[in-house]
Amino acid sequence: MEYDYLIVGAGLFGATFAHQAHKQGKRCLVIDRREHLGGNVYCENIDGINVHKYGAHIFHTNNKEVWDFVNSIVPFNRYTNSPVANYKGKLYNLPFNMNTFYQMWGVTTPAEAQMRLESQRAAALRALDGREPQNLEEQARLLIGDDIYERLIKGYTEKQWGRSCKDLPAFIIKRLPVRMVFDNNYFNDRYQGIPIGGYNRLIDGLLEGVETRTGIDFIKERKECNSQFSILNSKFKKIVYTGSIDEYYGYCYGKLEYRTVRLEQERINDSNYQGNAVVNYTERNIPYTRIIEHKHFEMFGSEVESIPTTIISKEYPAEWKEGMEPYYPINDERNTALYAKYKELADREENVIFGGRLAEYKYYDMAPVIERALAAI
Ligand SMILES: Cc1cc2nc3c(=O)[nH]c(=O)nc-3n(C[C@H](O)[C@H](O)[C@H](O)COP(=O)(O)OP(=O)(O)OC[C@H]3O[C@@H](n4cnc5c(N)ncnc54)[C@H](O)[C@@H]3O)c2cc1C
Repeated sequence: MEYDYLIVGAGLFGATFAHQAHKQGKRCLVIDRREHLGGNVYCENIDGINVHKYGAHIFHTNNKEVWDFVNSIVPFNRYTNSPVANYKGKLYNLPFNMNTFYQMWGVTTPAEAQMRLESQRAAALRALDGREPQNLEEQARLLIGDDIYERLIKGYTEKQWGRSCKDLPAFIIKRLPVRMVFDNNYFNDRYQGIPIGGYNRLIDGLLEGVETRTGIDFIKERKECNSQFSILNSKFKKIVYTGSIDEYYGYCYGKLEYRTVRLEQERINDSNYQGNAVVNYTERNIPYTRIIEHKHFEMFGSEVESIPTTIISKEYPAEWKEGMEPYYPINDERNTALYAKYKELADREENVIFGGRLAEYKYYDMAPVIERALAAI
């Protein structure tokens, strides 16, 4: 069999590329080493609830073209991300806004909230005594004051990084925007939502009419053949590779590092566990950072009670080790330099396109991944 493209990876990059290529009359084969399509946006349906298997995914963008594109594949719902933080049993709205300040200090006007913030920032500035902030803790106190730092930032950040805020560099937090309005919408983007019926419908729609095979590892297949362009008893003019770039090159310069999240899923005999999709736990001594209750991404109002059970996932940030999901690239000096070396090799390839979060070793939200896949063809 002869194909124009072998697309390695059935995530959003691979699926979007395949969709466009197919529309242009190109013959594509999409393979994935996992047993399912969709990459990290894949959902498993449990009790009629779409469970985000690789972490909660909320689509958001300012790009109307991308929004129209995904909605042409499957319409999106009106989900608006409004996380809540739980600190020692008390709830606070996020991102920091007038609701949060009311919950924190009982203030009811922007002027009162501003006064509180200013007096706490001034105290942090005095404590520095003319020095620049030396670590994340000092930087955060300066930007937002003690109360918000202690209750909503400190513990959460320490769990995320596995280190004390005093040992983290100040530059990690450059800005901590506050909203002097009552607005719990987490994203500033014009468009957001979840595909109606779940992300698998988006992936299935993108891959409609495209040949796909799951449970096939490109790296393994390639080992058994003389040329990577003729594997799986087929010939390919070009390869679109969305796997890890260091793995593609046999780790010849060494391994890139990641941070990851361990997800602990529970099925609960209650129709509504926490009343919101996302609840952050900001205390240091609760080991997880967030609890996701999946049904709230797609069920609103009394729909929530239509299913008597619910599925939650607790998120535990973790150091990445072999065999774990490589989620977040680490953009420190070592890894940035290492990636640059692999990128040099990739730039020399004539018939291989590297795209997506693993091949580009870069954290991308979904909308930018789609933008890049649309531009790559
Ligand atoms: C925990 C988490 C939460 C996120 N939440 C959001 C969010 O709320 N909003 C948002 O916009 N974005 C979010 N993202 C980002 C989003 O997941 C990515 O933008 C998107 O999944 C990237 O798609 P991709 O195709 O590049 O990669 P992937 O989805 O990782 O797809 C790559 C595929 O390639 C396959 N593959 C790799 N190597 C091989 C091989 N050798 N042979 C065959 N197949 C191979 C993999 O199995 C995988 O399926 C989140 C990411 C994470 C990690």
